[in-house]
This record gives sequence, structure tokens and C-alpha cells, in this order.
Amino acid sequence: MYPLDREKGELQFGKSSATELIEQFGSPLYLYDEETMRARCREMKNLCSLPNFRVYYSAKANTSIALLKIARQEGLHVDAMTVGEIYQEKLAGFTKEEILFLSNNVQPQHFQEVIDQDILVCIDSLSQLETYCALAPGKEVYIRVNPGKGAGHHEKVITAGKVKFGIEPDGIPEAFEIAKKHSCRLTGFQMHIGSLFLQGEEFTPAIQTMLDIAKQYPQIEYIDFGGGFGIPYDREQEQPFPLEKFSETFTSLLTNWMEETGRKPIFAIEPGRFLVAEAGSCLIQVQATKVNSGIKFIGTDLGFNFLLRPEFYGSYHEIIHATNGDNSQKEVVTVVGNVCESGDHLGKDRELPLIQEQDLLLIRDTGAYGFSMASNYNSMMRPAEVLIQSDGKARLIRKRETIETLVNNQIF
Ligand SMILES: *Cc1c(COP(=O)(O)O)cnc(C)c1O
Repeated sequence: MYPLDREKGELQFGKSSATELIEQFGSPLYLYDEETMRARCREMKNLCSLPNFRVYYSAKANTSIALLKIARQEGLHVDAMTVGEIYQEKLAGFTKEEILFLSNNVQPQHFQEVIDQDILVCIDSLSQLETYCALAPGKEVYIRVNPGKGAGHHEKVITAGKVKFGIEPDGIPEAFEIAKKHSCRLTGFQMHIGSLFLQGEEFTPAIQTMLDIAKQYPQIEYIDFGGGFGIPYDREQEQPFPLEKFSETFTSLLTNWMEETGRKPIFAIEPGRFLVAEAGSCLIQVQATKVNSGIKFIGTDLGFNFLLRPEFYGSYHEIIHATNGDNSQKEVVTVVGNVCESGDHLGKDRELPLIQEQDLLLIRDTGAYGFSMASNYNSMMRPAEVLIQSDGKARLIRKRETIETLVNNQIF
């Protein structure tokens, strides 16, 4: 989240200090910066100046309706993976024309719900294409193509190659036959090779492959290259994604393809993380400090149930002291959460200004796959979310869950 202002040692978020935010909304707290998200949306829209270029926000990164609204105001379309995402996207104002449903092993009744809403569907396998087309004769349909090679920061997020996703190029002729059998029109190819690449180089070959495949099928009017644009979680070790350089390569690939083929399909990308990760952070409170086996542990109220990435992917998130800006005295600490598991780490061996109980820390870049992956594990109530608006005011966009959340659906 930018900018990181301090006043009297304390981080400021718009018009509020860290302490004021925690006093008003409680700890732990998910914070979002409106201006940062808007800036990222604009950067992605400006990635390509072609009029037939579209950006779909991949909403699974963060489904908060207030953020979906911002994406829509910035002129983005939106992806949905489930009927639950579609429901929230519609509440944010997205029209059916602006939503693309990317299905993966979907129940037929969910296909039916999407068909009833007249939303375009992208299908992930030949077997689901049969199911879908039988339910939606005459409709337009897209398929997800597996271009053969993936990329990403962790094997769990590589989504092309030897993984469950997509239809292999060999299967495409059969896909056209299945569609034809049900009078459906197969008009779009989509791919998504993985998440969090920081150079364009991993992405370009897959784009090229996709364009080569699409060349063979003149029926294709929509080509979607997926998301995966990374952000530098470790600002000291990593560089931001080279937008300008990639933009040039990307635009020239598309322009050349159009010249060669004389066709003008819609070209799309589907960033998730890039748009929201840096806009978000978690403000948390230190509840205990101790030394075990020579390691100084800082015990906070943010466990992996609320921020899963460090535990699940081994991800790095920058941690900074939110209420002590005195860098003259530092100590090496391991920051942990409050869940009953020893893997509950937020950061190991971090050098931070001196920390005391009740101090506040900021975990940075938690806007993507943060709240959206949070659970009620250990019977905890998920935190509130607050938007720091462009005018500097802090606005509650999701209430903290209450104890009723835990028992609402139970029958006993
Ligand atoms: C998750 C996902 C995205 C977004 O990925 P990011 O790494 O967040 O940009 C895009 N497309 C598909 C199909 C996805 O599953």
C-alpha cells in the first residue's frame, strides 16, 4: 500500500493513524487503498492500446464487492469461477455482458444457473463441453486451452502443462465437433499458465503458442491469455513486472497476428493479483513476546486461517512496525499467529524496530488471495475489511464476523 507515511513514528493511512484504525475497527484488520488499486487497474488497461483489447479482473483474488465496484468503474470486465462470484459481481454492478464464467469441474445445475443468466461460459474439458452444450444448444461457448507449458512462483499455482487444466491442442478439433453437434458456436480460446511471474519472458512463448493455435481456427473471435502478472513481495530482492517492455512485445505480437491473418478478434487478459495485492495490507496487534530456543517470537492475532499464503505457498510478505518508526535499535524476530499449529508463521528472522505487547505491525501486499482464502479454522471470526478512500477517509466495507457466524448453519 502506498504511500507509507509516518507521523510521530506511526503509520498513517489517509486521515487515520494505525492506532485510530484499530481502535475503531478492531484487530486484525484488512486494509485497502483505493488509489493504489485504481492505479493498477489503469496500468493493466494501458498494457495494450488496441481497441479490441480487454482486461478481465480475476475476482477470486479478492471478491469484496466494494473492490469489484472500483474495478468496474475503471472500465474492467470480470471473470467468475463460481456462481457465488457471479452473484457478488452482479451486486457490484457488472452486467451479464461484462462477466465471463471460467468453469472447472462444474455441477450441471450450476451450468444451468449461468445459462439462465445468459452469461458466456468457458469450458475446461471435452467431457464438460458435452454436458454444457447439451444444456445450452445454440449458445456461444469458449474453451480453455492448455498450451503445454506453465509458469509461476510455486507448483501449486502452475496451471498449464501436466496439470488438471484445459483441453490440449490435439483435442481442439473434437471440441469443435462437440459444439457443432449441439449447434453451439465455439468462438473463443482461453488460457492461464500460472500465477506470479515477474518477467514477461515466461509468458511470451505461451502467448505465441496460443496465437499459433488460433491461426488454424478462423471461427475464433476471442483470445484470452489469462492472468499471472506478479508483484515484488520482497522489494529488496525483486523488481516490479516490466510493464513497458512487456507491453511492447505483447502489442507487436497481437498487431502482427492481425496483419498476418486479416482477423480482428477480442484479445483479453485476466489479472487478479496484480490489481489488488499491493492495494491491501493487514494491520495486526502483538499479543505476546517470548524467547524459545534462542528465537524471539512475536505472537500476533493474525493466524494462517486469515492469511494463508505464508503457510500454504511459503510466501514472503514484508512486515513493518506500524507504531514504532525508530530504526536506530533493531532486533531479529520471528512473527507468528494465534492458530494452534506450529506452521503458523508470518515471517521468520525479520529485522524490526523493538516490539512490545500491544504494538501494531503491518503485513504488506495482502490484497490478493488474503481475505478471499481466509477461513473460520480454529473457530475464529474472520476480520473486518476497511477501504482507505481516495479522499483519505476510512470506510468499513466488510464487518468483522460475529460468534453467530460459527453456528448459523449447524443443526444440533
Ligand atoms: C487465478 C486465475 C487468474 C488470475 O491469476 P493472477 O495470478 O491472480 O493474476 C486468471 N485466470 C484464471 C483462469 C485463474 O484461475
